[in-house]
Amino acid sequence: MQNDLSLFSELVELLISEEKNHPVATPIDTNVLYETLDLQLTNEPTIDSDFKTSLKDIIRSTPKTASTSFFNQLFGGRIPRATLGDLLAVMLNNSMYTYKVAGPQVGIEKTVLRKICDIIGYPSSADGTFAPGGSMSNYMAVLMARDKYNPSVRNEGINNIMTLYTSEVSHYSIAKNASFIGVGRHQVRSIKTNDKGQMLAEDLDAKITHDIAQGYQPFFVNATAGTTVLGAFDDVKQLSKVCKKHDVWLHLDGAYCGAVIFSDDYKHLTNGIEYTDSFSVNAHKMLGTPLSCSIIVTRDKAHLYQSFSNEADYLYQTNNDDFNLGKTSLQCGRRNDALKLWTLWKSVGGNGLKSIVNHQFHLADIARNYIKNHPDYTLYSYDNSISVCFNYKAIPAKTLCTALYEHSQLMVGFGNFRNQDFVRMVTINTVLQEKDIINFFKTIEEFAISTDF
Ligand SMILES: *Cc1c(COP(=O)(O)O)cnc(C)c1O
Repeated sequence: MQNDLSLFSELVELLISEEKNHPVATPIDTNVLYETLDLQLTNEPTIDSDFKTSLKDIIRSTPKTASTSFFNQLFGGRIPRATLGDLLAVMLNNSMYTYKVAGPQVGIEKTVLRKICDIIGYPSSADGTFAPGGSMSNYMAVLMARDKYNPSVRNEGINNIMTLYTSEVSHYSIAKNASFIGVGRHQVRSIKTNDKGQMLAEDLDAKITHDIAQGYQPFFVNATAGTTVLGAFDDVKQLSKVCKKHDVWLHLDGAYCGAVIFSDDYKHLTNGIEYTDSFSVNAHKMLGTPLSCSIIVTRDKAHLYQSFSNEADYLYQTNNDDFNLGKTSLQCGRRNDALKLWTLWKSVGGNGLKSIVNHQFHLADIARNYIKNHPDYTLYSYDNSISVCFNYKAIPAKTLCTALYEHSQLMVGFGNFRNQDFVRMVTINTVLQEKDIINFFKTIEEFAISTDF
């Protein structure tokens, strides 16, 4: 192991210098990928020097998500203390299903979950778990809602039309999950939004009322804290009134921006969160931990047991169920995703988490102000969002983003809202500073001059 640890250090040194000197790796065309890099597997072992060379080549060509040129997706950057926690989790290699096998790591996971339940104002009956990503957290939420509405579905399957509701701009996992749980994609009702991308409570109420009149069974509403494209926050308080009126489960998908709960300055964006039945947040997005670190909590842990526990004599042999987390998780063997968030939180404190969140909103303000002050840009983003959506001159967003990538200038993506395409820059990358935001725009401007669009 010692040899591999020193190799690891050497490779990480290379990665860090590449991030600095070649922040956007030269993309390899998929047609020549297998000729360009040594990815083949053979029956013969590889000699150490070739092994090292292959790894170095692969590292050089792999997209750099922790560089100051990465604005592409809803994660990025590197916070050393969180990375340390994840590296330790790999070395310890526990499986989180029982206290016997994970010991204090179970206490670490429970501590993080308890803190989050307390922060959002859930009662002492609340609990949660770590799922393999935000899509799977949403999956767990909709399953719990289904089983609460009709506990017999667990054994008998679905006999009636059960309907669920989510905004027209919510994450695609809602439709996928409707199919996974046997309810069907066609039973997902798409709720209209206002100009800022927030779900309309009146339309939700109307659609639920209509479905009840048809004899259907409305059982789940998904609200979003930070929609995937615009970064909009649904009005949870208003939506919770509609859900209460019809006695429907309300889930808040906070995969993208649910971490505002850690900041006194921005937690108002999720006002009413205490009235939800479940809430999910990806620490690997706004909080900058390594992928993946996704949390799902529910106000009554009975729902977790109802949907996810199963007796297994070969597994649960010691300790009480409160410490055997396999009773409330999606998977059987489960990697330790809690430790990286705990090491981060332990080292920077709640105040540090708040700073991480506030910094991203600050950078988004810098970006929006830049755009507002430069007439060649059109802004499509609203205040209180860390998705800064814009167009530059008349260059189609897709053309611009693709050219920036192919010429190793910047990693940034595009999106659309109401048939308008635009560049979507996100300030979630934890290594970004103000100068990187300005540099982002300067890079686009200089690139546009030298390129014939
Ligand atoms: C990213 C995202 C998800 C999915 O999370 P994964 O961890 O990528 O599965 C779900 N909902 C929203 C709003 C997201 O932004």
